[in-house]
Amino acid sequence: MLNIALFGPPGSGKGTQSKFIINKYHLVYISTGDILREQISLQTALGIQAKQLIDHGHLVPDELVVQLIEDKLNNGGNANGFLFDGFPRTCSQAEILEQILKKRHMNLNAMVSLEVPQTELVQRLLDRASVQGRSDDTKEVIEARFKEYASKTMPVIDFYKSLNKYHPVDGVGSLEDIFARIQQVIDNI
Ligand code: ADP
Repeated sequence: MLNIALFGPPGSGKGTQSKFIINKYHLVYISTGDILREQISLQTALGIQAKQLIDHGHLVPDELVVQLIEDKLNNGGNANGFLFDGFPRTCSQAEILEQILKKRHMNLNAMVSLEVPQTELVQRLLDRASVQGRSDDTKEVIEARFKEYASKTMPVIDFYKSLNKYHPVDGVGSLEDIFARIQQVIDNI
């Protein structure tokens, strides 16, 4: 089994690279951002709560996100493995992920971190806003998301460093070049 967490700041290209990774390695894709947006469009109680937070650039509480992940893992069937996109985003989520995988006799093989300078990230997000119209891609909300990223998500890097699972990848360049770098990491774990 191959279980990977794709990590990186907003706009680092996780969604795009995820598609390449799941196709090549036949992994089940679990994106907490996509699941939350689905809950919002279905107007579930969880979705309504999440929308308030997401539209202000805040993270959704760990308990909610962990529940969503457990549901997906339970429905994963005989998967070759899982690709987590946008999860874990806090140290607490990372610790819980270790536990819930262990409980299922599974293990996270690697955390692949897409590294992109902040100036490029802001530009990419603003470009995306004009194409996709995501409600959290406005200048103010992007700023709030970066603050959350710096204070709550960056420390996740140290957590995986201590487990020898942290693999930084240069996230600047063509989509193909970046994917080639990611494959190098995955093929060598
Ligand atoms: P991006 O990587 O561009 O920030 P995502 O689609 O991964 O976008 O997430 C969008 C929003 O959903 C986040 O800003 C956050 O509010 C919420 N979210 C997604 N994943 C998580 C998570 N693991 N924990 C808490 N909140 C999350």
